[in-house]
This record gives sequence, structure tokens and C-alpha cells, in this order.
Amino acid sequence: MRTTYRQSHQVDVAKVPAAGVCCVIMAGMTDGPRRAVQPADAWAMGLALDEARRAVATGDVPVGAVVIGPDGDVVSRGRNVREATDDPTGHAEVVALRAASDRLGRWRLDDCTLVVTLEPCLMCAGALVLARVARLVLGAWDPKAGACGSQWDVVRDRRLNHRVEVVGGVRADECGLLLQRFFETHRDGVPHL
Ligand SMILES: [Zn+2]
Repeated sequence: MRTTYRQSHQVDVAKVPAAGVCCVIMAGMTDGPRRAVQPADAWAMGLALDEARRAVATGDVPVGAVVIGPDGDVVSRGRNVREATDDPTGHAEVVALRAASDRLGRWRLDDCTLVVTLEPCLMCAGALVLARVARLVLGAWDPKAGACGSQWDVVRDRRLNHRVEVVGGVRADECGLLLQRFFETHRDGVPHL
């Protein structure tokens, strides 16, 4: 039987693999209350990590994303395909958002959660706002190019007509290690996100 996002909410925290709870990070870089990572978010991040690992086969930076729908099901998946498709907009988030809209038959995703292994860039943060995504769960922060709390905070910019709830640092160690290993072996440690 397929496990859904909602069902995974019912998982006893004690049974969640250590990797899922070790990064009990707060709703990172926000002024809000300290919140532990939800088991469902850790579970969905595992799916995003699977997508990220697949990107390596095409020489793409390992970033993966999934969109979770209102009923807790996985609506779509995406991974970085910039190298695979020679598309500068081929980031995991954009791929996943497009697939979600295609599947749901609507551009407005205001009842969806996007889960991604790396803090979205300016383009993807903008896409999240345009798609009216309700909630963003991210893995590793990107201090150099992140636009959801690091360099910029596009998704919570009060000048825009929509703001996204951000939960950061979910399984951050695993997400970050995947990227670190990729850059060590592919790009002499120099990221070009
Ligand atoms: Zn991006």
C-alpha cells in the first residue's frame, strides 16, 4: 500500500530514522516559534533526496523536489535537468511545479507544499510565489544564492501579494552532503548553481 504524506504524519517520531530527526532544526531563519521537523516533512524530503541523486547521472547538480497535494499525496517530482536539457530554467522546483500544475490542471497551487533539498534560488522563489504555493520545506540552506531566507527572502517579502510558510533545515545534513560530494568530484569544489 502506498504511503501518503498524511499517513506518514501518524508515524511515531521515535520510529523515524535517526537521519530524519537529527536535523531537528527550527523553522530556520525565521522569527517564529521554534518548531521540530514534522515526520511527514522528513519523509517527503527522502523522496526529494531520491530525485536529487538521479540528477547526478546527467552531470546535473543534485537537487530534487516533490510537490505534496492537499490530500497528502505526492503530486509531482522534479530534479535539476539544466545540463540534461540545456535549459537554464531546468531547476528541480520549476520542473516539479510545472508537473504539478499539469497534473492538477491549474496553475494555482495554494493548497500544496513544495519540498526541496536545497534552498530555492531567486528564480525558483519567484516561481513559488507566482504559483501561490502555501508551504515550502527545504533541506540545506544556500548562504550564497538562497532566496528564501539567506541572501534574499523573496517568499516572505511583504511587498508581494503572496507569502509562503518556510520550514528549513529538514534533513539538512544529508542534503548538504550530497551536494558537497558532487562538487568535490565534478567541479573542483566550486559550485555553479
Ligand atoms: Zn532555482
